[in-house]
Amino acid sequence: MSTSHQSKSSQPKSSAPTDPYTRFVRSGPGAAIATRLGLPRPAKLPRRDDRREAVLGPVVVLGASAGADQIAAHLLDQGADVRRRFDGLRTVGSVVAVMDELANPADSAEILLPLAGAMRSLARGGRIVTISRPATGGDQSAAIEAARGGVEGFVRSLGHEVRGGATANGILVADGVALDAPSVLGALRFLLSARSAFVDGQFVTVSTAEGSLPADPARPLAGRTALVTGAARGIGAAIARTLAADGARVVLLDVTAAGTDLARLANELRGIPIQLDVTAADAPARLVEQCRAHDVVLDIVVHNAGITRDKMFANMTADRWDPVIAVNISSQIAINEALLASGEGTAPSVLGAEPRFVSLASTSGIAGNRGQTNYASSKAGVVALMPALARSLEAVGGTANAVAPGFIETEMTARIPPLQREIARRANSLQQGGLPQDVAETVAFLAGPDAGGIRGETLRVCGQNLVGK
Ligand code: NAD
Repeated sequence: MSTSHQSKSSQPKSSAPTDPYTRFVRSGPGAAIATRLGLPRPAKLPRRDDRREAVLGPVVVLGASAGADQIAAHLLDQGADVRRRFDGLRTVGSVVAVMDELANPADSAEILLPLAGAMRSLARGGRIVTISRPATGGDQSAAIEAARGGVEGFVRSLGHEVRGGATANGILVADGVALDAPSVLGALRFLLSARSAFVDGQFVTVSTAEGSLPADPARPLAGRTALVTGAARGIGAAIARTLAADGARVVLLDVTAAGTDLARLANELRGIPIQLDVTAADAPARLVEQCRAHDVVLDIVVHNAGITRDKMFANMTADRWDPVIAVNISSQIAINEALLASGEGTAPSVLGAEPRFVSLASTSGIAGNRGQTNYASSKAGVVALMPALARSLEAVGGTANAVAPGFIETEMTARIPPLQREIARRANSLQQGGLPQDVAETVAFLAGPDAGGIRGETLRVCGQNLVGK
C-alpha cells in the first residue's frame, strides 16, 4: 500500500480467476497435472454477480428447538426451498444447524451427525451455518458452557474440510436475544449469500435485538450517506462501489496525490470527492467543515485508509513506525471524536441517527506477522478500539465493527515477492486470495440496517487463514 498513485483502476472483475496458478490448474492439462500431483485446485467462488439467488437451495434446517422453527419459517418467507431432513436429497445447497438450546456437549450429535452423511452432497459454493449461543465465561453451568464452546471447534474444523468453494460459519446469539432478531436474520442472509464468498470458519456475534430489516433488500443502504477514507483505489474503491450499488450516496476521501483517481470514481458513482490527508492535524476539523459545505450528514463512516512500512523490528525506525500508527489508528480516533462532537455547538451534527462505523483491521493484527510489528500494532489497536467505540455509540443506537482482511489481491499484495506471495495466497481453506469486493461486501453488511445488533466485533474476511483464530 504505497501512497504513490498511478491512474489505473485496480478493480478486478469479480468472476476473473485471481492468479496465473489458478488459471493454469483450471485449464485441461493443468487440471490433470494438479490432480496427479495432489496440488491445490482452488474452486471458483461465486460472487454477487455470479449467483443471484439469496439462498442456494435446497436449504436444510437442522435442530428441533422453537428457534429452529423460526429460522425455517424465515427462510420459507424468503422463498427458499426449505427442508428439515436430508432424506431423498441428491444435492444440498445450504445447511443451517440451529443449536440454541444445547445443554450438554453430548446434545450436539443429534443435530450435527445427520450432516456428516450429507457432506458429499453439498453443492459447489454451498453454505453451512450454525446458530448457537456464545460461551459466557461462567454465567451458565459447566455443561452448557462446554457445549457452547464446542460449536466453535466444530465450525472452525468443518471450514477446513469443505471443498468446492463451500464455506462453514457460525452465528453466536447472546442470551436473551431471539433467533428472529433482525441481526440474526441479517447475518444468516449474509452468510448464506454469495456476498460472503471469502468468509470462512468465522463467527458473527449478535449481542442485541436492535436493527431493522431493510425496506428494499436489493438496495439496503438507500437513503444513507457513507464516508469512505482511502477510497481512490484497491479495497476502498471496491467499498465505495459496493455501498453505492447498495443504494448509498458516497463521500470519497483520499490524499491529494490520488486526486485524479478519486475524481474519476466520484464521477462514476456520483459521489463527493474530498482531498485530505487523514493524519493532518486539522483533518478532523476540515472533514466536518467539508461535510457542512456539501450539506452532508454521515450515516456510515468507513475507515479504510491504511499503509504498510514493513521492516524487521531490529531495523525499525520512527520514520517507519510513526506514519503507520498515525494513518491506521490515530487518525481514526481523532476523526471519530470530531464527528461525535460536531453536534455539541450550535451547528447540527454531521453524524446521522444510529451511525455505523466500520474500520479496516487485518489478520496481521490478530495473528501477528513477521516484519509487521508496526502494522500489526496499529491493526490490533483497531480491533481493541471497536468495543470501546461501540460502547460510546450505544446511547445513539450506533455501532462500530471492524473487518479484518487476510490476503486480498490488491496493489499492496502484488508487490510481495512472488514465492512469498504464492505461499500467502494459498495458506487458507479456500486456497486463493480474496478480492477487494469480498471485503467490501462484509463492510456493506456491517453498515446495513439489519446489522444494528452487531457491536464491537471484528469479522475476518480471509478464507480461513491457517494462522490465528
Ligand atoms: P491501497 O494502498 O491499495 O489503498 C489505500 C488507500 O488509502 C490509497 O488510496 C491511499 O492513497 C489511501 N491513503 C493512504 N494514506 C492516507 C492518508 N494519510 N489519508 C488519506 N488516504 C490515505 O491499500 P488496500 O490494499 O486497498 O488496503 C485498504 C485497507 O485494507 C487498509 O487499511 C489495509 O491495511 C487493509 N488491509 C488490506 C489487506 C490486503 O491484502 N490488501 C489485508 C489486510 C488489511
